[in-house]
Amino acid sequence: MDISSIEKIVSLCKRRGFIFQSSEIYGGLGSTWDYGPLGVEMKQKIKNHWWQAVVTSRDNVVGMDAAILMHPKVWEASGHVSQFHDLMVDNKLTKKRYRLDHLLEAQSEVVIGELADEFLKDYNPAENFDNIQKIVQVISANIKTGKTPDLNQFNILDSANKKDKGKADWTGIRQFNLMFRTSFGSSDESATEAYLRPETAQGIFTNFSNVQTTSRQKLPFGIAQIGKAFRNEITTGNFLFRTREFEQLELEFFVYPDETKKWLETWSQERLAWYIKLGIAENKLRLRPHAETELAHYSKACYDVEYEFPFGWSELEGIADRGTFDLDQHNEHSVKKQVYFDQESNQNIVPAVVEASAGVDRTFLTCLVDAFTEEEVRGEKRILLKLSPQIAPITCAVFPLVKKDGLPDIAEKIVQDIRQEFSAFFDIGGSIGRRYRRQDEAGTPYGITVDHETLEENTVTLRDRDSMEQIRIPTANIRKTLREKINDWDNK
Ligand code: ATP
Repeated sequence: MDISSIEKIVSLCKRRGFIFQSSEIYGGLGSTWDYGPLGVEMKQKIKNHWWQAVVTSRDNVVGMDAAILMHPKVWEASGHVSQFHDLMVDNKLTKKRYRLDHLLEAQSEVVIGELADEFLKDYNPAENFDNIQKIVQVISANIKTGKTPDLNQFNILDSANKKDKGKADWTGIRQFNLMFRTSFGSSDESATEAYLRPETAQGIFTNFSNVQTTSRQKLPFGIAQIGKAFRNEITTGNFLFRTREFEQLELEFFVYPDETKKWLETWSQERLAWYIKLGIAENKLRLRPHAETELAHYSKACYDVEYEFPFGWSELEGIADRGTFDLDQHNEHSVKKQVYFDQESNQNIVPAVVEASAGVDRTFLTCLVDAFTEEEVRGEKRILLKLSPQIAPITCAVFPLVKKDGLPDIAEKIVQDIRQEFSAFFDIGGSIGRRYRRQDEAGTPYGITVDHETLEENTVTLRDRDSMEQIRIPTANIRKTLREKINDWDNK
């Protein structure tokens, strides 16, 4: 799949009602998307799938749902106000703005070598990605002491300036805090500055004691949450991959501090397995351990679950050993201590935490990219989404062959019956071939056609989206057959 497929997916999403550009009638708001009828169904199913896998199926994980707005001191204590920033730089010729690490990732090894000679003491050309992170770190430290390097000394190209062979005139490098500011209060004078949360995790840390004491959980145990997060990203793009408003799926798993290594391994494997269960191709997924230089300010060790997108291997989820950093910070800055009374040692301890932090929208995009298929059938192009039946917005579409002879009534009844267990859709418009095509693009795994044989023999045809194979089954067995087929899909 090449990069142009993303454009095809964006267009399919609009055509079928998965995703629309936000505020489109006013010209659209960049990198901001609205989920349409099919999109919201699929998104909900992804969230339910995660909740089931992480919370409902376990007795040692409980859920919660914190407010998006939190006391501003939370973000000072967590380190986000002082540390949650990226370095940015602009090309004065194209007015294009870049996040420094993303800009450097697009440069040749020769340029990285020159930067490394300038900024790094120990330089191993084989570790290109690691070197970029190290260079960015050194530049960041230099900026804090007032030294801003001039990028124009190096042959750093701007891939957006195709007309002029990547020529650039770089501005100085600046730090940019990613926190979304807002104000809290009824009048301009009394309003205090607040933030839209950049992660849901702090809502969990600040409620650690509330949740632990009321749920009476013992270590090790987890608290999970699904919710919106906001980051004023320097560069956005690749459709849903990087946006300023997105939804997170976060698990904070609290453990005895000497057990983080074991739990980091356990959760990394569990989380990788979840994406495979979701139907994403195993050979396009990998777990990548972070180099030390890549770690966030709170993290001791980290794995990323990555997917091979048309634009390269990219992060879907971070699984991190955050140690006791967050609870320690809140214990230092807040009025109420977040501790755990350990009955064995008869004392209060601060638990460490292993975090698994994923994005709903990124997972959604991954499912679409992985399922998007173009093929030729009898000389005609067919586009389909080979989505897992667990997350396909519609599980089964039902079509009366013609609009008369009582077939629509029978089809309606079948839809009502299927709906007791699965999502179903009734479609009477257009030729049967066109109706199949529409459902193929919507990713609907099964289609049922009610025809004249249904009147005589009480049977229907069941069509499989991927193989296009049709079988004849008794009307009474529809739900049972769907159940079996979905089961087979899950176990294949
Ligand atoms: P990146 O390096 O891509 O900026 P990150 O390492 O800062 O991501 P985390 O802070 O670990 O991301 O956030 C956890 C998860 O939240 C990510 O793995 C991703 O799925 C999701 N996420 C983070 N930022 C965005 C964004 N701007 N748009 C969509 N999803 C995001």
